Amino acid sequence: MRRIQQLAPAVITRIAAGEVIERPASVVKELLENAVDAGASRIDVEVEQGGMDLVRIVDNGCGIHPDDLGLAFASHATSKLQSADDLFRIGTLGFRGEALASIGGVAQVLLQSRPAALPRGCELVCHGGQLSAVKPWNGSAGTRIEVRHLFFNTPVRRKFLKAASTEMGHVSEVFTRLALSHPELHLCLRHNGKTVYDVTGGQGVLSGERLREHIGLFFGRDVREKLYEVEASRGNTVLRGFIADPSCERGHARMQYLFVNGRFIRDRSLGHAVQEAYRGLLMTGRYAVAFLFLEMPPDEVDVNVHPTKVEVRFQNGQMLHHLVFSTLRERLNRENLTARLQPPSPFDPAPWALTAPPPPAPALPFTRPEPRQQEVVTIDVPRPAADVIQREPAPSPPGPGSATSTPVPSPAPPWPRAADLPEHSSRILQVYDAYLIVETPEGMLVVDQHALHERILFEQLKGRLRDGPLEAQRLLIPEPVELTAEQAARLLENRPQLEELGLGVEDFGGGTVLLTSYPALLGRRPPEEILRAVVDHLMGQDRLPTREVLLNDLLSLMACHAAVRAGDRLTPEQMAALIEQRHLAHDTHHCPHGRPTALLFSRQELDRQFRRI
Ligand code: ADP
Ligand code: MG
Repeated sequence: MRRIQQLAPAVITRIAAGEVIERPASVVKELLENAVDAGASRIDVEVEQGGMDLVRIVDNGCGIHPDDLGLAFASHATSKLQSADDLFRIGTLGFRGEALASIGGVAQVLLQSRPAALPRGCELVCHGGQLSAVKPWNGSAGTRIEVRHLFFNTPVRRKFLKAASTEMGHVSEVFTRLALSHPELHLCLRHNGKTVYDVTGGQGVLSGERLREHIGLFFGRDVREKLYEVEASRGNTVLRGFIADPSCERGHARMQYLFVNGRFIRDRSLGHAVQEAYRGLLMTGRYAVAFLFLEMPPDEVDVNVHPTKVEVRFQNGQMLHHLVFSTLRERLNRENLTARLQPPSPFDPAPWALTAPPPPAPALPFTRPEPRQQEVVTIDVPRPAADVIQREPAPSPPGPGSATSTPVPSPAPPWPRAADLPEHSSRILQVYDAYLIVETPEGMLVVDQHALHERILFEQLKGRLRDGPLEAQRLLIPEPVELTAEQAARLLENRPQLEELGLGVEDFGGGTVLLTSYPALLGRRPPEEILRAVVDHLMGQDRLPTREVLLNDLLSLMACHAAVRAGDRLTPEQMAALIEQRHLAHDTHHCPHGRPTALLFSRQELDRQFRRI
């Protein structure tokens, strides 16, 4: 029988480290927070190999007294908390006294520090939990910490780390969050000797303009130019920040930044409040972009509920939900955005796998119309004339005895073959520049031109991809596209798959990538648009999708971008070609994101409704 025994301190430290220090970005987060708590006004972060080889952070804060240097590495040793009561009024980012102990237990750390009031500082090495002797150090006032070879003594953890570019993406994200919540600081981030961000600070915490500039720096001009400022308060709580126009929407919620008392947090309820405020302005599955800052008395929020403090508990969650929702909603209403809807999103899950070969297909005689001037398309929902019965494609059949109710079109049964069709030239009608009405022996078919074209292209592309990479159009002058460092990393990680699709990207550093080629099929669509759509898609994935799923998703996305849209007027030839190729979509009547491509009003149903039978 195994006996119970108390674990050795080194083991306890490693277990604790597992909770707090997951990857290099966690080290950067903890050390940045310590520098902020030390009152630094300038912090320099330098990392090598995504932080796996080195993280060095230098601050000009209050420093550590030479006598306390060793204690800094002890578990549960902190200068930020005196008694248990203090836990309920935490004004610092750290308070548990665990970070340095954890980092020191799983890396090789050099800590050098000098309080401004002392003529000399001291240094100390902590090597996998083993402390060296304290030595004098003659550096400038503040603290300097070097963390080398993270997880050198926990190989299993080290194995879990990803490519340096991915780890660097996480580091950048941590850095970005800190910079957004502390716009007064001068912050610098360097990777492998190159400057990634140099963010000059300024006085006036959360002064709107500086924050706006920061947002522009991290997320690009596009977002910066579409921000609406919000400000509201209730009792002791103040809400401030910026929200982005619905046209900035993303396929993931990661651009909803929420800070409470200067700390980045995630909160389902407040995330929900943000989404609710945008209701009707975003397609389902799309997320708003927002940068929100809540300030409240520290005793109204419990930050001691999560190992990395990314989740908190509010005393008055409902009030906060309402404050966020109503403030954002009211601000959006002022912009009178309610009538605007985005064109269909290509990012809904596409469950098709690359399986059965599609029938061979000649190319459609379509060239994409000129790119639109404006990216936001207003989709007018056509109103039926008063004397026409409105036909809603309702999912359920009419109940018995409902002879006067509207006929319900059913999703079309398998497409009739081309040969069954009557002369198409006079038998296809385009309405609202969006739908084609086709007479077939089975009945009247109403086709969504975009959905059908998209489906056909999707099948064609799938077929072509089976024979090798898609045809790529090289750009004479590579086009720089500004992304966040995390986005750039994610994109570059998937380079082989993107190349199969004809999308060539290269790292330019500092979050910028160079677009060198794009899928020829996409013709005149702005290449940057497609790249951003791809980035969005990749960022929306929690885990790295398999190659097959990823290619499939991206094909569906490309098909959506290349297909004719609602609003494109088609020539009779184009209409005929589209209808003739509809058998390519024959195994499903849905576009790659699951909307129907056609509805059939059976001849019998029409006759019955008009009381002919
Ligand atoms: P916590 O931040 O929760 O107190 P840490 O393990 O991160 O715990 O740090 C332990 C202590 O070391 C801190 O309470 C602080 O006194 C000191 N310390 C750490 N980093 C710095 C720094 N950059 N400047 C000044 N003091 C620091
Ligand atoms: Mg700390």
